[in-house]
Amino acid sequence: MKKLDFFLAAMDALEYRRKNWVISAFALIQESVDAWKENPYAYRIVQTPTGYFFVDPKNGLQLTKIEDAKPGVPLFGIYERVSLKAGMIKNLHIDVETRYTQVLVNYITLVFPFGDKLPFMTGKIKVSNVEDLIIDKLQDIPPEGTARDPSLIYVDEFLKFNDAMSFLEQFTQLAVPAASPKSMVAAPGIMELKAKLIEENKDRLYDPAVIAKIDEALIAFDKEYLKGDVSQGFMINQKSYDVRKRMFAMMGAETGLAESVNVELIQNSLEQGWDISKFPAMNNSLRAGSFNRGAQTMLGGEAVKWLFRASSNLSVTQDDCGSVLGNKLMVKESNLKRLVGFSVIVGGKPVKVATIDDAKKYLGQVVKVRSPMYCNLDKTDYCKVCVGDRLAAHPKALSVAMAEYGSAFLGIFMSAMHGKKLSVAKMDIMETMS
Ligand SMILES: [Zn+2]
Repeated sequence: MKKLDFFLAAMDALEYRRKNWVISAFALIQESVDAWKENPYAYRIVQTPTGYFFVDPKNGLQLTKIEDAKPGVPLFGIYERVSLKAGMIKNLHIDVETRYTQVLVNYITLVFPFGDKLPFMTGKIKVSNVEDLIIDKLQDIPPEGTARDPSLIYVDEFLKFNDAMSFLEQFTQLAVPAASPKSMVAAPGIMELKAKLIEENKDRLYDPAVIAKIDEALIAFDKEYLKGDVSQGFMINQKSYDVRKRMFAMMGAETGLAESVNVELIQNSLEQGWDISKFPAMNNSLRAGSFNRGAQTMLGGEAVKWLFRASSNLSVTQDDCGSVLGNKLMVKESNLKRLVGFSVIVGGKPVKVATIDDAKKYLGQVVKVRSPMYCNLDKTDYCKVCVGDRLAAHPKALSVAMAEYGSAFLGIFMSAMHGKKLSVAKMDIMETMS
């Protein structure tokens, strides 16, 4: 049997659910020649010094040779490519050139929970990308005995998807080394680049924008050095590069505890050791990271509790209060989704924006959107039109939405940790004000 046929047969027999099978397929393992006899499950891989065999269900659970497998290297390489024709996998509708690992991940995260409902995915498979495909089709589990609609996705399938995504975590050691000989050292030449940039900007080193530009250049240099390295699977987060910059290039700007635009530049990298003249700034940075961040997180938590108490009596009691006031909103691609479920005021009357296509009709226009800010109802009551569909569906749960503001503070403080990077961004003043 050929490698590819074996792989697909094992996938269809759900072997991707067995951790041992996956490891024996993508890594070299060491076990005694007869170990397989203790548990001769179908498609079990048997590695020998002379070749690869598998427990063949069509041959009375005896060994069959995998003809085109090379002994001494893993049966399937992590980056090994494979050509597939449409229909070889139940959710594959076009011919693709991909990796064996991509096929494995597709079986685990898409075929296992959804069968052929979601198409084969190439490239990076992110939870959010799959959720985007699911969100409009998601339905409650139908009562037992009722037929299932193949065009919909049910909650139990979604839960299986969650399990499948978590299941992948155990293969990180197989496919994603966290460090490599290259990623453990500084990029050669980065110190010279730092010296050159500092010299070029020596009169403006107090300016956060200048330091941000230097940081950016150092990180770009480092990224170029690590391009194509095996550590790239792990370093998918920008933060990894920010941390490497501090470790191997330059600590950079420290703001300390006060809310201010002034920064102090620490030119040494952590690898170079402490510049004792910057001792106060380094201590401030430590305090900002350990104590201050904790204390500010507490503020966010307190705000959540306070908002819960202050808003616990709010409820949605009527269909429409008839308000003709609203918030002005410039409708753009970036805020289209926000409009869905709300009503805009046209000719003194509320017009419901029910779908994203309805919202698109207002693209580029400034509309007046009904808002709880202007609800006419008395005391703690609100109407369905002012609060919009999503909140109206949970009339007693408005305080959950209110408390979100506190959670936003909490998130901001929590994310302000050491790996934070100074950066500059362009602001479109007209768009910001519209
Ligand atoms: Zn109202």
